[in-house]
Amino acid sequence: MKYILETTNLEKRYKNFKAIDSLNMHIPKGSIYGLIGKNGAGKTTLIRLICALQKPTNGYYSIYGIKNIDKQIINVRKRIGAIIETPSVHIEMTARENLMEQSKIIGVPSYDGVDELLKLVGLSQTGKKKVHDFSLGMKQRLGIAIALVGNPDFLILDEPINGLDPQGIIDIREIILKLNKENGITFLISSHYLDELSKVATHYGFINKGKMIQEISKEKLEQNCKKRIEIKVSNIKECVKYLEQNNIPYEVISNEIINIYQKINISELAISLSERDCIINEFREKEETLENYYINLIGGGDNV
Ligand code: ATP
Repeated sequence: MKYILETTNLEKRYKNFKAIDSLNMHIPKGSIYGLIGKNGAGKTTLIRLICALQKPTNGYYSIYGIKNIDKQIINVRKRIGAIIETPSVHIEMTARENLMEQSKIIGVPSYDGVDELLKLVGLSQTGKKKVHDFSLGMKQRLGIAIALVGNPDFLILDEPINGLDPQGIIDIREIILKLNKENGITFLISSHYLDELSKVATHYGFINKGKMIQEISKEKLEQNCKKRIEIKVSNIKECVKYLEQNNIPYEVISNEIINIYQKINISELAISLSERDCIINEFREKEETLENYYINLIGGGDNV
């Protein structure tokens, strides 16, 4: 099984409005999958569908290869932990009491692991302090610990850094990276903060108006944003031959356009190519930030 979660033409309609529209998503095992979309794009709706808080109006999804319409899905759901919108914490309880309460709810007979979880999220020292006296960052970290009761191997976090201060953001980032690297937990994290997500994500899904616009790996996205020279040539075959022979990294974009990922002298390139009956018709230098990449992808204007 390659994907922990896969959706196929998933749809959620409210009367005539499609909040999720024929959406296909693939979350590889072991990945940190960043679901990126502006306000109202459909991120929370998608997560609510996956967590069975709402029913799809069409299409389906599979978790660990088990379809949502299969009876077995109940067992598979036990392997998922989630925080949707705000973490569900009891504010009149301490951090430890919250974790013990969650252990009871999900039927973990002993409280094994509670201390370890408190340590993991940096709340070991909170003692008798009640959650209503916690900072937002502490509440969010407690939310993650609660979601981890029962040892899930897939964690879903909806906007986990919303409203956090810089230190709070760093704390959450470190917890996510640790859980992914040391415990092999796969993550689905929704956010509209692309720059922050780029510090942890291994894969991205860009969603807009309920549709999946693009799924892309971190490597490919970085490649797409990298500083490059885009040239439009008259003879793509000869150009490719020349770049291969000279070990110049490139990517063919269309039957006229090639991206070159290396500093080159454009006049020398033009002379060398002209000797091979290939003319450079246009060239430009390009480099994109992740935010720009996203804005270009969803079309800018009204969409931004
Ligand atoms: P945000 O980043 O603001 O949380 P989001 O990407 O999570 O946004 P959703 O909350 O999933 O977006 O909403 C997607 C769309 O579905 C929005 O246009 C929203 O108004 C609409 N929507 C959500 N729930 C309902 C509902 N119960 N009835 C009608 N429309 C709804």
